[in-house]
Amino acid sequence: MAREYKHKFETRAVHADEGHKNEVGALRTPIYQSSTFVFDNVEQGANRFCGEEAGYIYTRLGNPTQRDLEKQMANLEGAEDAIAVGSGMAAVSAVVMNLLNSGDHMVASDTLYGCTHSLFDELLPNWNVDVTFVDMTDPDNVRNAIRNSTKVIYTETPANPTLSIIDLNEIVNIAKDKNITTITDNTFMTPYLQRPIEMGIDVVIHSATKYLGGHGDTIGGVIVGSQELMNELRMTTVKDFGGIIGPFDAFLLLRGIKTLTVRMDKICENAKKIAKFLEEHSEVERVYYPGLESHPQHSLAKKQMGDFGGMITFELKGGYEAGKKLMNSVELCVLAVSLGDVDTLIQHPASMTHYVVPPEEREKAGITDGLVRLSVGIEDPEDVMNDLKQGMES
Ligand SMILES: *Cc1c(COP(=O)(O)O)cnc(C)c1O
Repeated sequence: MAREYKHKFETRAVHADEGHKNEVGALRTPIYQSSTFVFDNVEQGANRFCGEEAGYIYTRLGNPTQRDLEKQMANLEGAEDAIAVGSGMAAVSAVVMNLLNSGDHMVASDTLYGCTHSLFDELLPNWNVDVTFVDMTDPDNVRNAIRNSTKVIYTETPANPTLSIIDLNEIVNIAKDKNITTITDNTFMTPYLQRPIEMGIDVVIHSATKYLGGHGDTIGGVIVGSQELMNELRMTTVKDFGGIIGPFDAFLLLRGIKTLTVRMDKICENAKKIAKFLEEHSEVERVYYPGLESHPQHSLAKKQMGDFGGMITFELKGGYEAGKKLMNSVELCVLAVSLGDVDTLIQHPASMTHYVVPPEEREKAGITDGLVRLSVGIEDPEDVMNDLKQGMES
């Protein structure tokens, strides 16, 4: 159920982490860089362990800096609670390994973050969990894949490389009354631009490494959902797999979230201009950006998302060689994987991240030879466009 708030999102992004009142009145959440916490006496230790008294025990089980980040994220996603963990993949694995047991089945989108895909495709079968990957841009494919043993529907929207969009309302309707947990990876949108929980999705996952942190200086993940599920996760896969976030990283994410809305506004504004520029450039075959009228799901994007985000992929007419040449010619755009930073990052999957993948398999995953991925930053967009122009025309 969605929460109700006195203040609007922009205000909450700045003020929502005030749950922890520190002793000295520091404006910012202190970094509680401590692995363990001291008990006054043996009775207090016992009471904390059996949950009769609130309070901290050991940082893998909870820490005040982590806790402020969790409260902040639950607040922004409109959820009851959240858990902060050490990476986006720690978030994905803690959730699915809790929800799925031997013999269970999951329906997952066929366009997923690479490591999420390998976890589902290569590791989960080792635990006798069956996963069906379907093209979720057609909800009927999801409907047809459901079995009696289906426990989870896993979505990522928009998703690389074509920035295809899944209609989350349809997913919620399909799962309704079936005892299926719906999960959405909301990394590309952040809660500022898309709030799946408010649409009825059960669990949201983030790689906080990306837009939430926003500065390319930390790795983290967040799980958001009901109080009941968060309690269950804390007592199982989060505590026992132990992929927790350190207090300093939690602090950096709290700091990043303060400026989330202004960064996202600028990134979206820049991305719209850069996508248009690319669409009109003679070296470019095709641009994938949900904000372009030419995107096949532009109207769904407008309905479901607050804005269109900062990820653009485009296909160069010159294929593999043109992609490689552009990578080696850019001077301002930074040649790096990851996304969501203040700097514009550029990547050519065929010659970089997917170099070892055989061309036929690459094509099947939509990674064509001339495909370039751009994570738009907050620079002056003219400078980025000039850099891309000189890189493509050199
Ligand atoms: C980066 C990313 C992940 C994994 O997050 P890490 O923080 O790198 O573990 C998961 N999903 C999406 C969409 C991502 O972009």
